[in-house]
Formats: sequence, C-alpha cells, structure tokens
Amino acid sequence: MSKKNRIRLFTDTPLKIGEIYTANENQTHYLKNVMRLGLGDEVFLFDGINGEFESQILEIGKKTLSLKVNKKIFDFEKSPDVWLLFASLKKENTDIVIQKAVELGVSKIFPVQTEYTFNAHLKPERVKAQVIEAAEQCRRQDVPEVQNLQNLQQILSNWDKNRTLVYLDETGSGETFAKASSKMKAPVAFLIGPEGGFSLREFELLKSLSYTLSVSLGKRILRAETASISALSCWQAMVGDWK
Ligand code: SAM
Repeated sequence: MSKKNRIRLFTDTPLKIGEIYTANENQTHYLKNVMRLGLGDEVFLFDGINGEFESQILEIGKKTLSLKVNKKIFDFEKSPDVWLLFASLKKENTDIVIQKAVELGVSKIFPVQTEYTFNAHLKPERVKAQVIEAAEQCRRQDVPEVQNLQNLQQILSNWDKNRTLVYLDETGSGETFAKASSKMKAPVAFLIGPEGGFSLREFELLKSLSYTLSVSLGKRILRAETASISALSCWQAMVGDWK
C-alpha cells in the first residue's frame, strides 16, 4: 500500500507491539465494507499516548475485526499548546472550523456562547467523531479535546492567566499579527467572535484583562471560519511548529 493511501485509525485503547487490537463496529464497517480490506492488509493505528503502529488484519468477523500490532512507526508527538475558542456558528460552518482547527494542530477546542452567538446545538458524539476523523486524516498523533459549549464570561472567570488569550478584533484597533506574534508564545489561545462580532461590553471586558491581546487580520472583514483558519495558520507559521 502506498504511503499516500495509508489507512489510519485512532483508538483510545493503549497499543502495544505483539498485542491484538479489536476494532469497534464503526471501524470494522469502515475497514471491511468501505475500504474493502482483507486478511493480512495493513492498517496504521495510533492511540494518542504511545505513538503510531503498523498492524495487520488477522481476523474478520461479521461485526468485529482484529488486528495484530506489529511495529511502532512513530513515537507519540504532542501538538503545540494552542487552543481555539470560537463563537458557535451554523452547523456547516462549525464543521469547517472544527475540522480545520484539528488540521492546524490545536490541542483544545472551545465552542463559546457570546452575546451575538448563533445558538447552535452541538452534538458531542458527532463532534467527537469529526475530530477523530480529521486527526486520522491529517496524520497527527493526538486528538484534540473539544469542550462543551460554555459562556464566554464563564470561561474567562476560570482562565489560567499564564495562557495568553488573543482575541481577533475586526474593528481596526488590534495590533498586526506580525507585530504581536512575539507575545504569543505557547500556552496561547485564540478567540474568534461570531458573525455579529463581539458586543461593546465583551470588547471592554476583553480589553480589561491582563492576559489578553487584541489582534487584527487586516482591513477586510473575514467570515468567522476564515478568521479562525487565518489566525491559526499565521500562528503556526510564525510561532508554532511550521517554523
Ligand atoms: N460583525 C462584524 C461586522 O460585520 O463588522 C463582523 C464579525 S466577523 C464576520 C466574525 C469574527 O471574525 C470577528 O468577531 C473577529 O473575531 C473575526 N474577524 C473577522 N475579520 C477580522 C479581521 N479583519 N481582523 C481580526 N479579526 C477578524
């Protein structure tokens, strides 16, 4: 199998060379019916703790499939300590933000309720599946945590002041990303407002906190999805693991 077509699956069961891993029902369906793999075919497994392992299909049952864990191919590598807080959006746009945040290497995702937030219902099981699928696809070794929807004020009241909170400000009063990047060493978090922007009260609160930084992404008003992807990309390029 070419490297390009590598099939990767995440498991929260710690993996060990020589052991048998039993795929769950969804994974079995995917390997057997979607990818049409057979006995002896290669699958890459990662567990978010020990790294990534090459395994081979040993047995295929009706609803289960077992794999022999053969050898380690990558040690575990933690993603940078960068979080994304975004005001929840309509379903498709939330999907984009979550998927791209995983690809861009965040370690935690917080959907946030702000004053002008679109009131979306996030289904935790669906979000978890999305995050795992994105991590499998982009070949990262860990799967970011996704928090339940929380109110912005609630999040700020429990904030660890050692983590810089960069809020993206489209009003023109923020610093440029390049200028502010030297103050964005991890641990860091990015906060993106909703389609309606932050309220005046929220801007005042954010401005008053010692650990926040207001940053502009230029004169154009970006959709919240674009702002999330842009901020994380700029950070990875200037501060994070693209350097
Ligand atoms: N309500 C605003 C308006 O119409 O003027 C637009 C809000 S924008 C669609 C959604 C969020 O993306 C903003 O709250 C901000 O966090 C971020 N954003 C969009 N454009 C930005 C820019 N040029 N600089 C910094 N942040 C931006």
